Order: sequence, then structure tokens, then C-alpha cells
Amino acid sequence: MMFYSRYTKLGAEFAVPANPEAFEQAKLLLLNKGLNTDIGPTWDNDEALGYLSGQQIIGNTESVSLAYSGHQFGHFNPLLGDGRAHLLASFKGLDGNDYDIQLKGSGATTFSRGGDGLCALGPAVREFIMSQAMYGLGVPTTHCLAVLSTGKSVYRQGYLPGALVARIARSHIRVGSFQLLALRQDTEAMHELMELAISDAFTEITVQGEDRIFAFFNSVCQAQCALMLKWLQVGFVHGVMNTDNTLVNGETIDYGPCAMMESFSFSRVYSSIDTQGRYAFGQQPNIASWNCARLAESLLLLCDDEEHAINRFSEILAEFSESFNQGYRALWQKKLGLLGWHDEDQSLINELLELMTKHQLDYTNTFASLTAYKLGALQEQYPIPCELDGWLRIWLERTAKYSSEAMLETMQVVNPAIIPRNELVEEVIREYYQVGTSHQLNEWLEALNKPYEYRSYPPKWLTPQSNTTHY
Ligand code: AMP
Ligand code: MG
Ligand code: MG
Repeated sequence: MMFYSRYTKLGAEFAVPANPEAFEQAKLLLLNKGLNTDIGPTWDNDEALGYLSGQQIIGNTESVSLAYSGHQFGHFNPLLGDGRAHLLASFKGLDGNDYDIQLKGSGATTFSRGGDGLCALGPAVREFIMSQAMYGLGVPTTHCLAVLSTGKSVYRQGYLPGALVARIARSHIRVGSFQLLALRQDTEAMHELMELAISDAFTEITVQGEDRIFAFFNSVCQAQCALMLKWLQVGFVHGVMNTDNTLVNGETIDYGPCAMMESFSFSRVYSSIDTQGRYAFGQQPNIASWNCARLAESLLLLCDDEEHAINRFSEILAEFSESFNQGYRALWQKKLGLLGWHDEDQSLINELLELMTKHQLDYTNTFASLTAYKLGALQEQYPIPCELDGWLRIWLERTAKYSSEAMLETMQVVNPAIIPRNELVEEVIREYYQVGTSHQLNEWLEALNKPYEYRSYPPKWLTPQSNTTHY
């Protein structure tokens, strides 16, 4: 496998040379074997431990911490950067795409701002579970290659065992990366960064000149739109959609205070720091669009005619809304197995969402129950909530003319049978804290890798248990 340093050409102010801490007591706790063999870096356990614990350097690569700015909860912070992360290297994966390997929790950097640069075991395990589950659900996401215990305790509300996450991602180019270069008025580096982002995720862009900038912006907007529809489909609440946590390639990154929505509400929030509900479940598409607008402002640096550029960016943002609205309707249509569109369908959808909100029905299980009904199986596992009796009659009448097989073809691929429920994630984390391993994680992850499989599951995996904030 060929490893190289991808970001050094952007200059030492953007990609600051930085070595991870060498953790001599480190142990490989979790390894994503499928990722390791299918994409790379195809390391054996000893290699993984050596490279990821900071004890060995990968080939001729130079480890860096990336600088970036970011709007955090709407407030601009000019200099954030990787305060506890080291980007070790990039490589060409076995699938032909290029990937970065980044460590998180690997020690303090110039961007740590008083933070310890470390990561506790719990959040590392959460990222391992959530990113794999999201991948299984078909949501674009960064991957977790491994979790290592560092052998060094971390002080949070008390002392906790420390860990680090090894992340594999198509790139680590954030909206905040462009914001930083705009702030520095570094036109040359921004051109480089845009080209890097295009070669990573948007190779279909061939136009040159200023139109290339608009084409790039359009691709980012469409990728964000697609991501928001996926989050909506599976009930994912990210929790901290700051511009520094938004990758321009449209992959989910930063599984901090994230959660899967259990009882349905567009205003559902899980993060205790999100007191205003800025990043509530139903707000996410608006925020993604807001973050894209911040990218447009940054890209103005590359444009000669500002007025023309603002008009073009506004049109592209309007297309984002348009695409989202179309995708939004199509999504509910699929989740309900509506094979055509009638005018009354909008109220059928609205009534269901209102009933789900009012009766606090579980998002996943409600749609799974409609799917199981059409499947004519697993109805005990996924009973249709009695609060939906009246609504159900209308839905059955509306869909009477469709064959169950045809409906299932659309419903089964958008309505997961199983998701990583928050309380179970917490339970596995507790096991890791108590005994350094989990007796149930492997079997659960296997199921989470194929979440659209309608079969019998342990009830514990399907039962909603919490709507509490956990961060
Ligand atoms: P996040 O909320 O995870 O996106 O982090 C926001 C910023 O704070 C990023 O620049 C992180 O690198 C930095 N950061 C988070 N936790 C720590 C920590 N324990 N030590 C140093 N920097 C941190
Ligand atoms: Mg972050
Ligand atoms: Mg975070």
C-alpha cells in the first residue's frame, strides 16, 4: 500500500507538522476488520498497534494537525484546528479512492487551547459503533478503523481510561477549512484546497475558470442535501453541526453527542449543550444549507465579479432547497410504500407525523411495523401502535391497489429493522469501562451491518429506552 502526505502542499500554516504522542502501553481494543481488508490499510494487529499508537511512523509520511476556523453554534471562531487529532497519512484504498488516516485523542497540538488533547474510552467506543452502523444504514460517513486504549488516564468529571480513535475518511476538508483560508485571504491555498476536494469527491467536475467554483459549490450543496435526506431517513441527530464538523464531501464526521431518534419529534435534541435546539432533528437540513452559505462566502475570495458570484451562489442555494423538497416528499412516499403520488398523500404523511409526535411513537419501529405488516411476518416483533388505528385504515385503503411485493421493494430499503439504540450504545460503553471488553458488541455489530434485514432480533435491540440527553 502506498502512503503519502496529502495536505503538506497547502503550507505549514494549514497543515502544521505535529507528531502524535507515543503511547507505549497502548493496546488494540477494537479493529474494523472488514474495513481494514476491503479498503485498507490491510495491516496486521502488530502493524496497526505500532502505527496507531504513535510508536512507528508510516513510511515517508509526515504527520500533521490541520488548521481550520468554524462557526460553533452560530458564533464564528477564527482559529480552531485539530486540538487532539493527528492526520498520519493518506493512501489509495483497494476500492480506488484515496483515504486519510487520522488519530483522535493522540495528544495535544498547537490548537489544543488548554485542552488535554486526549479522548476517553467511552466516546471512542461510541464512534466505533455509530460510524459502522451508519455505514450499514447506507449513510455517507467517515469510518473508524480501530480503537486503542492508551494506558493513560484522562480527567473528565473524574479519571477515566484514555483511548484513541483511528479514523479513515475520504478527506478531512471542512467548510471551516475554507473559512480559515478566506480569513487569511490566501487565494492560492484556497485554489489548491478546492482542487484537492474536487479530486477527492467530485471528479465529475470538468469545467474550468470561474464556473469551476460554482460547479464545486453546487456539488457540495448536493452532497449535503443527500446527506440530510439520509439522516432524516434513519433518524440520526448529529448534535454539533458546526461548520468545522461539516465535510465538503458530504460524509458524516464527528460522532460526539450524536444519537438515533427514538420517539419521533422534529424538535428532538439529545445534546445537553444544545439548549436552543439549533441542531434539533428537523433543523438539520436548514443548518446544512446555512453551513453551505458560509462556504459560499469563503469562496468569494476566488471570484472576480463579486455581484455575479453572489447571484450564482444564491441560485445554487435555492437549488439545494428545491432538491431537498423533492427528496423530502420522495422519502416519505417511499417510507409509506406509496408507489404513485395523489394530492391527498401530503395530508396522509402529515397526519402520521402528527400522531407519531403526539403519542411519542418510536420512529424506527413505527415504520418497521408498517413494513412488517406488508411483509405479513414479524408482526409480533413490530406491532403497529394502536394510536394509529384510524390512520392505518386510510393508509390501507390508499395502498389497496398495490401489491405487497412492490410496496416492500421500496419500503424495505428505507425503513431499517434495527438501529444502534442509544441506551445500548451506553451499555456497551459501560462494559468497556468496567471490564475493558463487551460480551455483546460483536453480535450486535453484525446485525447493525445489515440493518434492513427483516428477521427476528433479541427484543433488547429493538426496544426504545431513552430520550434523555447523554452528553
Ligand atoms: P468538536 O466539538 O469535537 O468538533 O471539537 C471542537 C474543537 O475542539 C476541535 O478543534 C477539537 O480538536 C477541539 N477539542 C475537543 N476536545 C479537545 C481536547 N480534549 N483537547 C484539545 N482539543 C480538543
Ligand atoms: Mg470536530
Ligand atoms: Mg467532537
